[in-house]
This record gives sequence, structure tokens and C-alpha cells, in this order.
Amino acid sequence: MVLGWHVLSFPLLGGEITRYETGHLVLHTDVKPKTARMLLQAFDTAWKTWVAEFGPPPGNSAARRIIGCVMVRPEDFSRAGLLPRSIEEFLEGDHPGKHQGHRFWMKDQESDYYRRHLMVHEATHCFMTTRGGPVLPAWYLEGTAELYATHVVDPRTGRFHFGVMPTDSRQLPGWGRLGMMRRDVRRGRVPRFELISRLWTTEHNKIETYAWSWAYCRFLASHPTYSTGFRELGKHLGDGKFDVALERVLGSRSDVLQFEWQLAARDMVPGFDFRRAAIRFIRSAPLSPGGTMVVVAADRGWQSTGVRVEKGVNVKLVASGRFILAREPRPWISTAAGISFRYHAGLPLGRLVGVVQPDRVTSDKPPRVVSLGSQGKLVPETSGILFLRLNDFLSELSDNTGSVTVRITTGTDQPGSDSDNAPTR
Ligand SMILES: [Zn+2]
Repeated sequence: MVLGWHVLSFPLLGGEITRYETGHLVLHTDVKPKTARMLLQAFDTAWKTWVAEFGPPPGNSAARRIIGCVMVRPEDFSRAGLLPRSIEEFLEGDHPGKHQGHRFWMKDQESDYYRRHLMVHEATHCFMTTRGGPVLPAWYLEGTAELYATHVVDPRTGRFHFGVMPTDSRQLPGWGRLGMMRRDVRRGRVPRFELISRLWTTEHNKIETYAWSWAYCRFLASHPTYSTGFRELGKHLGDGKFDVALERVLGSRSDVLQFEWQLAARDMVPGFDFRRAAIRFIRSAPLSPGGTMVVVAADRGWQSTGVRVEKGVNVKLVASGRFILAREPRPWISTAAGISFRYHAGLPLGRLVGVVQPDRVTSDKPPRVVSLGSQGKLVPETSGILFLRLNDFLSELSDNTGSVTVRITTGTDQPGSDSDNAPTR
């Protein structure tokens, strides 16, 4: 990619700040010229990504030209009149970057990845917030800034791809968002949307708050049911209709949405397969006295049984059939008991697991996933709809084939029931 830029240098006491200029960015920086060129190229790619998503900034918008400072020695920028005192003081705290209107400032970062990430984070704010209108909610502004900032570099072409779900966290040194979420999940927290938005008043300094907002936006942007609605939000950056649009495109399904979000967040991994993990909700009914049979596919995430269970009333599940979990290096054939040489979420891959969707999602704790295996019993802690899946990383569903058939009966043994015998086929 070839970029044209003008370079104007002016020597300063104790360092040199160089001014670079492209069509949409004026960059003042004291990083090495090679690093500056890399940043200009990254900005140019990010700009195209924003325009594709939100449309170009309106003709009178200040965001048509963003002015940024990437600073190794902020004091030099201060002396050169490029860094207002209030911003300088802000950057002396926990935050490495700050935007204001069409301008941003950031402290230089250790890795090239995080340099680009932080620059595009701040510049995304510039691009999105200079269209007038009321201030948009922090979960959305910060989540979206993180969404676009998260990027990979194509190893063959060297091109940047902004706004992606990473498939390998090692390509994103210093990013660590998924690890932060995993730690929170282990500590017993998977925030619902209500809590994510509240964290911006109670824990706005914590990087975890950025991680959760990113993940929520990523989930909405990638989910087959919600992606159109999420995109629609981006059409209301400055017209004062954001809240109405949020309610219209996402609010009506909020309990269903929160249930699915918490399940996805609990197991979010690099390369998360949003399409195969997406839940198909179906009409539900109480379990009939004779029980029912359902099929659970190995290449999907959580699947509705359509069975409504009652709090404290036992349900018995017997699964039969074999399926393939991976093809390489050779087919891994499993039953619903699972295969115990690899684990996900503390359980063998392939193991049948269950979860109950409550009528209202009221908790910020990880959903209670119950290990069932080939013959399992579930005592629901809440009334609701039973969902099943065959345990696997939600990034590795596409190489699975086959299914199991699950017989679901009430926990009290029926006359003639053979559910205590191991299923064979
Ligand atoms: Zn921000």
C-alpha cells in the first residue's frame, strides 16, 4: 500500500516531533519514522473500515480530518503547544490515551500491536463522536472503539484487518481481553448488559470494563440474529435516536438475548464460531408423561430441547449415538459420555451438558451448566427451558459431525423404562 504524506520536522529542545499528514490524519509524533509510517498505514486502513460501517463523516464534520499525537515524551509536546495541560494531567493517571472532538493524544506503547490498537481506539472515538447529538452510552462508545481497534496482520500481505474476532491471541500482544473475561468468569461473574453499562460508573478505570464492553459489541456485531440491529445503531451516532433504536432493534428480545449472551461470554475463545454457536429458539412445552426424544448435533452450540422443566423436579436424560469431534490427525469418535483426553470448561470433550433458560435473566453469575453424559439427571434450580449441547470449544464446531439422540423423561422411573441401562448402538 502506498501512502502519500508530507513531512515537516521542527527540532525542539530535548527531542524531535515530526508532523505527518495523510488525507484524513495529521499525526504529530516523536516515534521512529518507520513506526510513524506503520501508524499512518494502519490509520488509513481503519478509516476505510469506519467508512464502510458508518458511512463517511458529513461534509461539515470535524472528523473529516483527525489530528493525533503519539508521544514518547509528552513534555516535549506540551512545550510545543500540542498537548493541553488538562489532557497532560489526564494522561499522567491510569489512562494511556484520550480523545477530544477530532483530536487525540496517546502515550507511545511498547508493542507495535498495542500502538496501533490504542491509536485506532482513540481515533474511532474521534470518528464517531464529532457528528453532534447527545453523548452516546459509554458501553457502546468504548465497546465499539475496542471492536475496531482489535485487529490482525495478514502474515502474507502485511495488511491490517481492523474490527475482527482474533483467532489466535498470540498475534495480539498486550491485548488480553479474553483472558480478563476468563478470570472474571472463574471468579463467578458474567455481567448482563445492565451491569456492563453500570460498570462505566462504578469500574470505569478497569480494563475489564473495556473487555466486557468489547465482547458484548463483538457478540452483537457477529451474531446472525443481532448483527443487522447492531449495525443499525451505527446509523444513529448523531441524530438523537440511538436509545430508541437500541430498544427497537435489540430490546424486545432482551431476556433471550441476555441468556444467550451469558452462555457465549462464559465460553468465549479466540475464533469463536458465532454462526454455529447461535441459538435457534423454538416453541416450548412441558414434558409429556411419556417423555420425549430430541437430537443434539455435534456441530452446533447450545440447542433448545423445547422442554419446559420445573424447579426441583428431576429430569432424566439418556443419550445414544456416536459422533465425530475432529478429523485430524484421525477421527475422534465420541459418545455423550465424552472423551477424556481433552477437556473444555473442566469436562471431557463430547460430553452431553445441559443448562436451563430461566424466564427472567436476573443474575450476573455464569449460567449453571450441568454435566450429564450418556445417562444423566438434572434437578433444575429454576423453572425454564432445557438446552443441551455436546461439550467442545465454541471455536471448534465446524469439524464436528454427527449427533446424539436424547430421551428425556421425568426423573421418577416409569414402568418399563430401560433408562438405567447404558445405551448401545
Ligand atoms: Zn475510549
